[in-house]
Amino acid sequence: MTPTKICLSLTEPTLAADLALVERNRDSIDAVELRADFLDSGERSALRSFPERARLPAILTVRRESDGGRFRGSEEERVSLLRSAIEAPWAFVDLEEDLAASEVEARARARSVRIIRSLHLTAGLPPDLAGRLRRLARSADELPKAAVLLGSSRDLLSLLDAYDELSGVEKVLLGMGPYGFPTRVLASRLGSALSYCTAGERSAAPGHVDPVTLSAIYRARSIGERTELYAVIGNPVMHSRSPWIHNPGFRALGIDAVYLPLPIDDIALFFAIAERLRIRGSSVTIPHKRAVLPYLAERSPEVARIGSCNTLVRTPNGWRGANTDASGFLAPLRRAVEGTRPPRRLPAMTALVAGAGGSARAVVFALTDEGARVTVANRTVERARSLAEEFGCDWAELSSGLVGRGFDLIVQTTSVGMEGGGVDAGGAGNDPLAFYDLSGREIVYDLVYSPRETKLLRRAQAAGCRVVPGMEMLLEQAYAQFALFTGRDYPRGAAET
Ligand code: NAP
Repeated sequence: MTPTKICLSLTEPTLAADLALVERNRDSIDAVELRADFLDSGERSALRSFPERARLPAILTVRRESDGGRFRGSEEERVSLLRSAIEAPWAFVDLEEDLAASEVEARARARSVRIIRSLHLTAGLPPDLAGRLRRLARSADELPKAAVLLGSSRDLLSLLDAYDELSGVEKVLLGMGPYGFPTRVLASRLGSALSYCTAGERSAAPGHVDPVTLSAIYRARSIGERTELYAVIGNPVMHSRSPWIHNPGFRALGIDAVYLPLPIDDIALFFAIAERLRIRGSSVTIPHKRAVLPYLAERSPEVARIGSCNTLVRTPNGWRGANTDASGFLAPLRRAVEGTRPPRRLPAMTALVAGAGGSARAVVFALTDEGARVTVANRTVERARSLAEEFGCDWAELSSGLVGRGFDLIVQTTSVGMEGGGVDAGGAGNDPLAFYDLSGREIVYDLVYSPRETKLLRRAQAAGCRVVPGMEMLLEQAYAQFALFTGRDYPRGAAET
């Protein structure tokens, strides 16, 4: 296995700004790609000074708009820019499949600048990607490169087929977009000579992350054949903070493993992808927590009782499903309850659960199991009713009708108040219980963890309530998953959330 080089694509408007990024990220990268198409036109005359100033193997690229670049001039102008810039110690020059630039190629060869022959596919996967990549190089000394925008889990599976067919062929082959993200992290295992990343505001291609994240969190430079793979599956899932919990945990304990986000649009395909990538375990999030149930060879008692699964562990007999949401929810709540003066007990408490979605299920299960008296209140009252009936509790509409009921515990499980929660949820800065006056006696638990301090929690704190932020649950449920994945306790304090 040839170690993949992590290549920082530079997309700033000036060379000085590009070089500043190189300095800032030097420890996390092996090569740089100067995207000259992003430079202000006044900067182009100084292009030749770049490789020596960067002091890393440098790729010269001038990408036209039709391939996702920013170069707006004619093809003659582009070739002319390449011809003048090539007279410098570049390690590579990136020339597209259909570019006619024989003079640039001849000068590149004369200067020992290796040609990357590239292909950018943004309109879906071609039927014979492996064949096209094999035919890409015009001579044996060229390095063929294909960057393919993936639009689905099926596309990722097809790309994995292409890697298999091209095993042993020196190449750069990467999936763009969220569905392609695993190929950027696992480039060395899949056999791609380079994996690209971007620092700064302007991403060079869809799916790029910053070099520190790629190298330090996802260990893209040190993933080997034996590295164990774990994932979080969902749709969408790229925003997940779980990689910043599990990966630092592996690092702290010296476990050769990596945990990465895997967008999945069809749950059946996850199991096929997991076979191919040898994934050993996975966290499961929206919208798959119930959809995975038919695929389980074994269910933990919690999965059977809650009817939802947030953890998959591979066993010799198939996939075992577990649920750490309920225990993860209860651990911080117990600490909060024990800390009240005078001390209270969960079984003697009345609880309002706002929301009746996937997370509310685990919360209602946990609270009723502990003996608390629960009322489920939801915008769509039918969902509140159906959840409440399943667990034998009361239900109500999430409205001012709840005022004056004097709950001891309020658990907020709707997506209202969440950053990026969507127009429907109103985004951060919303309080789904704004109509409910707090006396200061309540424990207020908000499952939303981004932002860490929601509007509801700020109001609760100001009223004198004991509060529990959603981040505490996120950490506790992840610690329990980590133990199921590795058989070891999570090294508390390691998480970088
Ligand atoms: P879900 O299954 O999609 O349920 C969403 C809930 O929010 C439903 O009850 C929905 O009500 C309600 N809702 C959405 N928009 C609303 C609005 N504008 N006004 C009133 N209610 C609204 O989502 P979920 O899995 O339960 O997740 C909910 C939240 O919990 C998310 O922010 C998630 O990040 C967080 N969470 C945190 C943890 C943790 O570890 N801290 C774990 C799991 C989830 P309707 O039924 O009327 O649509």
